[in-house]
Amino acid sequence: MPTKKLAEYEAKRDFKKTPEPGARVPKKAARALRFVVQEHHARRLHWDFRLEKDGVGVSWAVPKGIPPDPKKNHLAVHVEDHPLEYFKFAGEIPKGEYGGGTVKIWDEGTYEPVKWSNREVMVDLKGKRLQGRYVLFQTRGNDWMIHRMDPPQDPDRKPMPSGIVPMMAKLVARLPTPDDAWGFEFKWDGIRALAYVDGGRVRLQSRTGEDITARYPEVHPMGRALGSSEVILDGEIVALDDKGRPSFEEIQQRMGLTAENEIRRKMKDVPVTYMVFDLIWKDGHSLMERPYADRRKALAELKLTDASWQTPPYERGGGATMKDASRRAGLEGVMAKRLDSRYEPARRSGSWQKIKNKNRQELVIGGWLEGEGKRRGYPGALLVGYYKDGKLVYAGKVGTGFTDTTLDKLNARLKKLAVDKSPFEAGASSPRGAHFVRPEVVAEFEFVEWTRGGQLRAPAFKGFRIDKPAREVIREGG
Ligand code: MN
Repeated sequence: MPTKKLAEYEAKRDFKKTPEPGARVPKKAARALRFVVQEHHARRLHWDFRLEKDGVGVSWAVPKGIPPDPKKNHLAVHVEDHPLEYFKFAGEIPKGEYGGGTVKIWDEGTYEPVKWSNREVMVDLKGKRLQGRYVLFQTRGNDWMIHRMDPPQDPDRKPMPSGIVPMMAKLVARLPTPDDAWGFEFKWDGIRALAYVDGGRVRLQSRTGEDITARYPEVHPMGRALGSSEVILDGEIVALDDKGRPSFEEIQQRMGLTAENEIRRKMKDVPVTYMVFDLIWKDGHSLMERPYADRRKALAELKLTDASWQTPPYERGGGATMKDASRRAGLEGVMAKRLDSRYEPARRSGSWQKIKNKNRQELVIGGWLEGEGKRRGYPGALLVGYYKDGKLVYAGKVGTGFTDTTLDKLNARLKKLAVDKSPFEAGASSPRGAHFVRPEVVAEFEFVEWTRGGQLRAPAFKGFRIDKPAREVIREGG
């Protein structure tokens, strides 16, 4: 054994006097260097990346997490060295203290240094989650970037798409029967929105592709709840009225706001909740080809429930019970979704159906009739229509459901759009004395039924739909 021989070597020398190397043999071969990634729910969510080096943890704070793909580099802010004991730390830093919030160990393992200079650190990571070569390089001051040099760990991983148009439902008069192949959800009356979540950040997109993130700040913390999961969710942003029912009239007060101070003020009176009902992307993989029931299972695993976002459950079969419950709760109706159906963006296939307790329909305003008395010269009734085969079809006039504020808004918007000729190209002829407008304003109406002549019976104005493009307004059902 070499130790024995060295003991002899050692016995002959006094190492306080000679500069010769001592014989102390390392207990075992040099221990591998460690690394840790801590998910830190501080005021802003970030991931702390620490590498053991010369007895300390050299550290970077990475706001969007360790990039899984070489195509995406992430900012990594170089921060102070931490003691090695910190590598095992998980728990709660008290509020008000430096870095207050929860710390979780996101990954840990060992690494081999490939290159280490003051401006560039290249390492091979061997963690539970992370494997492969990464490089950190300084860009300016404490700002560094972290880049994955190896191909993605998951070779099938795809970059998250953007601009997906949500799948739509066909309006039908009756529940499907038999209904055991269907899943039922309550229908939420609000603003359809897809949520793109990546690196703990949420981006909300309307069905027309507009970025509406800034309008709904209460939904932003959902990003933290998802941590490093990359997902695309489908759902509806709703505002609840004083009876706890989603109210389209309430949400209208939020959807048009763009100024931050106005949004913050309105948030207190009219808070919103994001009702999540589908998961169409997860960690580099599309779930759109997977059946509805599987997607709902994967969605449930995300456990998205808080004051400002929820995952209302769905029921397998039992549509009549659901519809009854929706009517008693004052909800708009139910959605029926085939359990085996895939997610078809931008399509209104029959795999999703909506069954309403009352008839609702979006329509385009193509003209108006003057009011009477003090509203002379102002809109008193609206002429509305929908598109069929590219032509605007006249569907009737609507004279109720307006408040004075709505009428003032209509007056301001419609007078700017005045045209000489009727925009209606099909259907019954519109009444005499009408003022016509370019068909751009979309609103939602409630009505009893469609007449055989294709007119609305007893329609009432419910609210503007600034989220729907006029050209996409079609007659639903009946
Ligand atoms: Mn931190």
